[in-house]
Amino acid sequence: MTEVSTFAVKPSPHPRSLADRAAALEDLHFGSVFTDHMARARWTTAAGWGERRVEAYAPLQLDPATAVFHYAQEVFEGLKAYRHSDGSVWTFRPEANAARLAASARRLALPELSEADFLGSIEALVQTDAEWVPSSPGSSLYLRPFMFASESFIGVRPSGEVEYLVIASPVGPYFSAGFTPVSIWVDRDFHRVGPGGTGAAKCGGNYAASLLPQRIAAENGCEQVCFLDAGTNSRIEELGGMNTFFVTADGAIHTPRLSGTILEGITRSSILQVAEQTGRQVRERDITLTEVLDGLGSGEVTEVFACGTAAVVTPIGRLKSTDFDVAINSGEAGPITSELYETITDIQYGRRPDAFGWMHRLA
Ligand SMILES: *Cc1c(COP(=O)(O)O)cnc(C)c1O
Repeated sequence: MTEVSTFAVKPSPHPRSLADRAAALEDLHFGSVFTDHMARARWTTAAGWGERRVEAYAPLQLDPATAVFHYAQEVFEGLKAYRHSDGSVWTFRPEANAARLAASARRLALPELSEADFLGSIEALVQTDAEWVPSSPGSSLYLRPFMFASESFIGVRPSGEVEYLVIASPVGPYFSAGFTPVSIWVDRDFHRVGPGGTGAAKCGGNYAASLLPQRIAAENGCEQVCFLDAGTNSRIEELGGMNTFFVTADGAIHTPRLSGTILEGITRSSILQVAEQTGRQVRERDITLTEVLDGLGSGEVTEVFACGTAAVVTPIGRLKSTDFDVAINSGEAGPITSELYETITDIQYGRRPDAFGWMHRLA
């Protein structure tokens, strides 16, 4: 059995009424409504981790000198709780999120949180707010664990005080209009991260750097931006918050290798394992933009998709930049993209056997 820490539950004195909760679960959007509680723990240099608890969801009161506001010493995670048809609630590979949070924390000079604390915080919060896990098709409870420098001190050094919190938001299916391909802007001017930087860590600062390019993408009629490597400006890395995949005419799937500037997605790793198990060739390697554009022209590249926890798999129907604009698959989701999406979501919602032992019961 995996070790799980105890988080003491102090129930909210003012939970939403049944009617309010039902109304919130009827009308799901991404990340704007939160449940009645949050999990938290606190770390100090002297005492280490302590004060593990679940309490009423509420605003934080922070001193203006709190270190995170000034130097962005912060890391986060994202995972979901899924309701199965028998009413039970499960999450997907939380041990991988725990390990990644610890790795991100190391890179940002934050204290590592143990797997036992990570699992304990999520179990306690989801058990307390189990009624908030939606059951409509494709819906889930999105969990957002995060950790930040909470010491009031504006000198530049790792914080001596740290807060860890988990908040939860019921979310609907990512594709409300069906499994629709998106348009991607390939950015030639800006990079998300660089060699030796924080690209392999899940930290807010990487997202801050992606927002201006994301806005430029939107101005060019694209939903998302794809970043090239900062060293040569030629290799495809990933989107602001999703990994990228390419399917070739032989049915093989290709994704950029983990070079230190790419975030190792848990969806990415799951897709590689599912594809390998079904006998598909999988290749983690350097992939250049030129190779992809040539491959789309010649028919060698047949499908392009992105992946991450929020949408699982997002088909890409168009690649655009200052000097090209290419439609992929006439803007339709390709068959291998769709098959991978079905396989992963079937496992998550308990519709097919969990052959990899990925699911972890929460409630
Ligand atoms: C979170 C994230 C991903 C996707 O990771 P998953 O574990 O699959 O959700 C990909 N790229 C970046 C930059 C991310 O922050």
